[in-house]
Amino acid sequence: MMERYSRQILFAPIGEKGQEKLLKSHVLIVGAGALGCASAEMLTRAGVGKLTIIDRDYVDYSNLGRQQLYTEEDAKQSLPKAIAAKKHLQEINKEITIRAVVGDFTPSNAEGLLERVDLILDGTDNFETRFLINDLSMKKNIPWIYGACVKSYGMSVSIIPKETPCLTCLMKAIPHDGMTCDTVGVIAPVVQMVASYQVTETIKYLVGQPVSKELVSFDVWNRQHSIVDMAKLKKEDCPSCGQNATYPYLTEERGMKTAVLCGRNTVQIRPNTTEALSLKEVAQKLKPLVSDIVGNDFLISFSINPYRIVLFQDGRALIHGTKDINEAKGIYQKYIGA
Ligand SMILES: [Zn+2]
Repeated sequence: MMERYSRQILFAPIGEKGQEKLLKSHVLIVGAGALGCASAEMLTRAGVGKLTIIDRDYVDYSNLGRQQLYTEEDAKQSLPKAIAAKKHLQEINKEITIRAVVGDFTPSNAEGLLERVDLILDGTDNFETRFLINDLSMKKNIPWIYGACVKSYGMSVSIIPKETPCLTCLMKAIPHDGMTCDTVGVIAPVVQMVASYQVTETIKYLVGQPVSKELVSFDVWNRQHSIVDMAKLKKEDCPSCGQNATYPYLTEERGMKTAVLCGRNTVQIRPNTTEALSLKEVAQKLKPLVSDIVGNDFLISFSINPYRIVLFQDGRALIHGTKDINEAKGIYQKYIGA
């Protein structure tokens, strides 16, 4: 049913041929927060044939202010974002294929997720994941579109292997002074603007039109806008895109891995195992120790004063109520295991 795409097909740079290309394309969206939601919805409506969406978090009421795919019911059920996103996106367009992955995007699962992917869209909120995306992009020769927003300020740049500087080359030119959406806030309009730039470049690339290579940044509140040519920043000896690239961000440390989430009072613990947990068994074991255990098919959630713990099937846990990694590790080991 091509009628739903009729207005887009009338747009000359896309046309019928472009639409056919979109329908045969596969985009990986890393992160289904505000940017990921906005991009995923536009790509779903535009008829990109396959989307893979990976996210490690679940829907919370504080997301509803700008993460446009989610509803109060999703927050009430604490549904994983990838699952909730897929559900709503398929309601919009059931003719495309959407694969939802609940989990962390890591060096060990990332390469598998990249099979037959044409482009990677950045919906993350942290540089650790972006550098991983960047190294994968360079190694596999798959372009990716960077996007970020904080307060009323946003930016986007297209990173095309062998053509543009990569994120490692640009690192010093892109401000990342620890401001995150949770410490200084963000407004929904800037999310829409960043996603609009990201999705426009994505569509251009997929239909075979030239992609804009400048970094665009703007402050939607103060109506400021700038476009900067970054071409000169490409470095011959870059460890990610240079002649003798070593892809430093693809090497994973062994053992339990921890991360403080996007400026939140939350630590993520990822154990050194790939075995799926039986959430039912864990819940049974915890019942005498905790009073308020709830869950769904994908996670369980319970409180141990002053913490609230959300445990996923892959053994990953979010420990809310602390930013202290050792404290969080201790809680994990005591109640869930090594
Ligand atoms: Zn580089």
